[in-house]
Amino acid sequence: MLKILSGWFLMVGAALPVHAEWVQRISDGIMGTRITVELWSEDKKSADEAIEAVLQEMRHVDESMSTYKPTSEVSAVNAGAAIAPMHISKELFDLLTSAREYSILTEGAFDITYASVGYLYDFRKHIRPDEKQIAKALPAVNYRHVILDANKQTVFFSTKGVRIDLGGIAKGYSVDQGIAVLKARGFTRAYVSAGGDSRIIGDRFGKPWMVGIRDPRQGEGSVITKIPLTDAAMSTSGDYERYFDEGGVRYHHIIDPRTGHSASKVRSATVIAPLAIRTDGLSKTAFVLGPEKAMEIYNRISDIDAIIVKLDGSVIYSRGLEPAKLR
Ligand code: ADP
Ligand code: MG
Repeated sequence: MLKILSGWFLMVGAALPVHAEWVQRISDGIMGTRITVELWSEDKKSADEAIEAVLQEMRHVDESMSTYKPTSEVSAVNAGAAIAPMHISKELFDLLTSAREYSILTEGAFDITYASVGYLYDFRKHIRPDEKQIAKALPAVNYRHVILDANKQTVFFSTKGVRIDLGGIAKGYSVDQGIAVLKARGFTRAYVSAGGDSRIIGDRFGKPWMVGIRDPRQGEGSVITKIPLTDAAMSTSGDYERYFDEGGVRYHHIIDPRTGHSASKVRSATVIAPLAIRTDGLSKTAFVLGPEKAMEIYNRISDIDAIIVKLDGSVIYSRGLEPAKLR
């Protein structure tokens, strides 16, 4: 018996590389959010180098896409695209093309020109526009004002006053970029997240990764449920992320493009799909359109699933996640 056992151990020992381990790094301060990278690696040095490359890619996305940085490409577009068509990088052009696709899929609930009004809010300083300011800025909110020419790789704003902000897809996109960096280096089991946007490759040796959905009315550590995921992305949008309360009303960072006000029809919405840009682009819809209409749209899109926490705290699931009904 002893002999057989030790032989078995030897076999297992030979199959697993000696120093393989899970390596995790949590980094604050890129895109104003927390970045987590976790991966299975056979040596610590290549793990550390890969994680650094992921963070570098995220810093690049931040530098190019942030409207907080006057030197970013998006800030340049906001300053110049209403004057004449502007030639832009392939990366930004592709992101604007994706943004347009999400606007169409969500019937205009996702709209990067929300920023034409959105820039008047400062949630940290509890600043919000008054009705007059909103009425003046609102006509510039419409994704159709963003004219893309694929042949010339240019963007043009057809109306004055248009501003864009990619805050609704940039984190998801950067997570996909981070995963691409890891895949190119040969990693097959990894987790990358930027705030509420995460994506996973592989599993945890026969077991899925368990990713929690935060309870919108409890502290950061408490979750309403955990979702088992393998090779998938998940984004959660919540009204607890960037907000202030005033006179019993919660003003927070998702804006209804039709009204210019905070969109407050749900407490949180989680979307699961193959890519994080997609989950990020679709998770805001429920805030704008409400749980029923959003779920109708989510159920129509074949490669996604969704979990919505309604205003009364009850939870609804897309068709793919509903428990099997007994006949
Ligand atoms: P996080 O920024 O934490 O990832 P979300 O994924 O919920 O949170 O995205 C919220 C961000 O989306 C806002 O901070 C803003 O930049 C952007 N945004 C707000 N309203 C809209 C909208 N209607 N369409 C597209 N983007 C929006
Ligand atoms: Mg997001």
